[in-house]
Amino acid sequence: MGSVADLPFSDLSSPFFKKEMGNETLQAVRGMNDILPEEAELWLWFEEVAREWLHSYGYRNIRMPLVEPTALFKRAIGEVTDIVEKEMYSFSDALNGDELTLRPEGTASCVRAVLQHNLLYNAPQRLYYSGQMFRHERPQKGRYRQFHQYGVEALGFAGPDIDAEQILMCARLWHKLGLHDVALQMNTLGDADARHRHRTKLIAYFSKHQTILDADASRRLHSNPLRILDSKNPDMQELIDAAPKLMDEIEDDALQHFDEVQKILGQHDISFEINPRLVRGLDYYNRTVFEWVTTGLGAQGTICAGGRYDGLVEQIGGKPAPATGFAMGVERLLALLQVDGMTLPKQQVDVYVVHQGELAGRSASRVAEQLRDDKLRVLFHCGGGSFKSQMKKADASGASVAVVIGDDEARTGKVSVKPMRGGEQIRVAADILTKTVNELIK
Ligand code: ATP
Ligand code: MG
Repeated sequence: MGSVADLPFSDLSSPFFKKEMGNETLQAVRGMNDILPEEAELWLWFEEVAREWLHSYGYRNIRMPLVEPTALFKRAIGEVTDIVEKEMYSFSDALNGDELTLRPEGTASCVRAVLQHNLLYNAPQRLYYSGQMFRHERPQKGRYRQFHQYGVEALGFAGPDIDAEQILMCARLWHKLGLHDVALQMNTLGDADARHRHRTKLIAYFSKHQTILDADASRRLHSNPLRILDSKNPDMQELIDAAPKLMDEIEDDALQHFDEVQKILGQHDISFEINPRLVRGLDYYNRTVFEWVTTGLGAQGTICAGGRYDGLVEQIGGKPAPATGFAMGVERLLALLQVDGMTLPKQQVDVYVVHQGELAGRSASRVAEQLRDDKLRVLFHCGGGSFKSQMKKADASGASVAVVIGDDEARTGKVSVKPMRGGEQIRVAADILTKTVNELIK
């Protein structure tokens, strides 16, 4: 059997190699991005804001594997959905033949984990997770093959209060992040019976007009007629406009639920638009569905989407339990923050430790550790060089203070301290170094 080591290193037909100035370099997989240190600072900041926000609503963190049995997504998301039909990274494990998939979304995994560990046994659960999702889509701005989501799920809650809570949560986050240009669209999909009746009527209706249907629509006629309503084909728009409406099937219970959600949002001055064409691309949704959309990102304008999925727990094999949740696309959110001109102060250290000579090096290393014990951020110079060149590096590092230790200092138990933004170098006893540094960086 061949192994990776048998592959010729130089395979220029491979998309992963790029010839650059005579060297062949390996490239990342298309649509999967590196997040470099500069940008990672924005991610870290966002993650801190998000964590505090989630905890302020009592949601607790759960972490699932990135890989799940393919059957989970087929069953949860639905066989005839864009995700399952053409976006999943599915493969057979070469070692044991298991059919596996890189998760394209988190809800199915989260529900699987909740059921596997019996978390709904005693009480409902408010949960959140974050991390990579994988979808084999055509990469473009705001659409990647590996992207990140924050997902929020409330399991075991049936009432409209939790639907409203999750929407209020989103509004609070946009406010915390300083985002203005995000609008809420909502719809109700009713319950399973209504959807079933609607489906039957759609099949009958479209069957009567088979000659107008395009290939995609004909293929979906029996498997997922609801998706025909999403078609952008101009030749089918008239037919679609006159198709039976789900709204006509939805029962009073579900309508009242949706009414209540709207009432609560009204009490909190959250404005929204009802969009009857909002159906969401995954099969598991029922009742309330919503999307937060911005005009600031061009075509990829949905930064957050979710809704109720009362049937999913049972579909995955649990005792029936109502649930509702949403997911935010982190790349799109951060792109929107950047469009809005968001900047962060560059992450910097407080102290750069400069040293020369063997004795001084040992002493400097101890001093650096001591400063870190005292909660300071410290860059310890590595790689030798003259005092002058080390001071240049100290300057470039953005540190507020350089601590300088030569053999002289090391022998006398003193250290020199140089404020980097002006001011004289002073020499102090090692035991008051932290105090001195703290005064200088204030
Ligand atoms: P879209 O209609 O843009 O394809 P979706 O309905 O497939 O989105 P969801 O499954 O609801 O998306 O995922 C929730 C959020 O995750 C989206 O609103 C979006 O912000 C983000 N998202 C989805 N797919 C991608 C992707 N390929 N790249 C980056 N972000 C994505
Ligand atoms: Mg999609």
